[in-house]
Amino acid sequence: MSQTVTHEGQLLENFVGGRGVAVETDEILDVLDPANGEVLARVPLSTTVDVDRAVQAAAAAYEIWRDVPVMERARLMFRVQQLCEQHLDELGELVVRENGKSIGEGKGEVRRGIDVVEFAAGMPTLMLGGALEQVSRGIDTELFRHPLGVVAAITPFNFPFMVPMWTAPIAIAAGNTYILKPSQRTPLCALRIAEIFQEAGCPDGVFNVVHGAAEAVNAICDHPEIRAVSFVGSAPVAKHVYSRSAQAGKRVQALAGAKNHIVVMPDADLDLAAPGLFSSAMANAGQRCLAGSVGVAVGGIGDELAVRLEAIAKASPIGSGLDPENTITPVTTAEARDRIAGYIDLGVEEGARLLVDGRFESDNGGFFLGPTILDDVRPDMKVAQEEIFGPVLSLERVDSLDDALEVIRKNEFGNATAIFTRSGGVAREFRRKVTAGMVGINIPVPAAMAFFPFAGWKGSFFGDLHATGMDGVHFFTESKVVTTRWPD
Ligand code: NAD
Repeated sequence: MSQTVTHEGQLLENFVGGRGVAVETDEILDVLDPANGEVLARVPLSTTVDVDRAVQAAAAAYEIWRDVPVMERARLMFRVQQLCEQHLDELGELVVRENGKSIGEGKGEVRRGIDVVEFAAGMPTLMLGGALEQVSRGIDTELFRHPLGVVAAITPFNFPFMVPMWTAPIAIAAGNTYILKPSQRTPLCALRIAEIFQEAGCPDGVFNVVHGAAEAVNAICDHPEIRAVSFVGSAPVAKHVYSRSAQAGKRVQALAGAKNHIVVMPDADLDLAAPGLFSSAMANAGQRCLAGSVGVAVGGIGDELAVRLEAIAKASPIGSGLDPENTITPVTTAEARDRIAGYIDLGVEEGARLLVDGRFESDNGGFFLGPTILDDVRPDMKVAQEEIFGPVLSLERVDSLDDALEVIRKNEFGNATAIFTRSGGVAREFRRKVTAGMVGINIPVPAAMAFFPFAGWKGSFFGDLHATGMDGVHFFTESKVVTTRWPD
């Protein structure tokens, strides 16, 4: 099977019913390599008609796929897993080319995606129902888990391989047919995943890709034959997709933006905490929903922490993610770079101290910003409250653990948080009281594994069942309870 990127500037097609299908639109965007601005491909923005075509293909495939035994659907996952392993280097590089992150992170996200495939290969066990004999005289009750039908996922640019893989393996192994609407900025990994599923023996129409932006997303939210929508992206769009899909009677999970705080206690090991906080904030140029973008220094450790962070920032190599030496990689677009630079100005206007200014003119056409550190940030500043989604770390100083917990409680978001401390008691209190769904203890990026839900709280998540783990299985299945009596 050919690789997705065949030549630069190629006009992409949707992947529907097992084959490439041209999109009927004049709206076409360039897909750019963020490291040098080169055009990798051109992506068409699908219309409502294009989405409906994919839904019809998925609905037809569902009639066949729902009857395929669950063991066979699980075996498909074993083959997908093998192909992903076989192509791990190539997939990692494709992530870097369209997203810009470092090659280590690119391969890392492929690995995290494979974890979900491996989890979904356990579907015969994961979908097990239950039974209770003699609920009344001569009557037994059983619970079966059923697939929903046609389901859809709408995904962001920052993890073009991993985020689609949060849902595709679970949804498909559970017996659903699936439509992926990837970010228009990173459509190449989505097509490559579709090819891998196809090569692994996934029947036509079970895995479909529809390129596009707002019109395609709204068509998904509104389409009466799509039973469930999984969304991952920014908070405003998450709210929109959540309410619009729910309005249309669908099951929805909407994973949204974040502002993650990393608390550094006075007893923290700074050899661990300073580089941990720095890389949490700066990896993938800060474009991660788990980025620790606010450091909260407790009780006087801020000065030493700031000195160390400044030194790390000034020694960090900036450049293309394909060069493994570079730790600071480009942001996704020129517009994103300008927006982030605007936040740096705003922080200074609000009274923060610009400890490290990462702004510079890149001469190779790439969308670069160096690591930036704003010190003396107060929790009421916009740079402390809003998601900047760039390589900008805000440093706040507070007097106590309670103050740190209060800062986190008052923030709109609640995706992840972490604490650096040598005290088990402090760590336990933090774990119990903190208002975020993924908590790191001396771990700066508390990424959930495939077997656990990706558990954002507050404004970082809209819905009930999270992605991955048993939440993912329950999201993509519905239960049927059967009560039986056999009269003599
Ligand atoms: P985004 O919200 O711009 O786009 C996400 C998806 O929504 C894309 O497929 C896009 O085409 C679509 N979209 C964009 N604007 C739309 C509109 N007006 N109407 C309908 N659809 C629209 O997000 P992004 O910039 O691609 O990704 C970054 C965001 O994703 C950050 O906020 C980040 O925190 C968040 N994110 C969250 C998680 C999580 O698990 N909570 C994981 C990864 C990324």
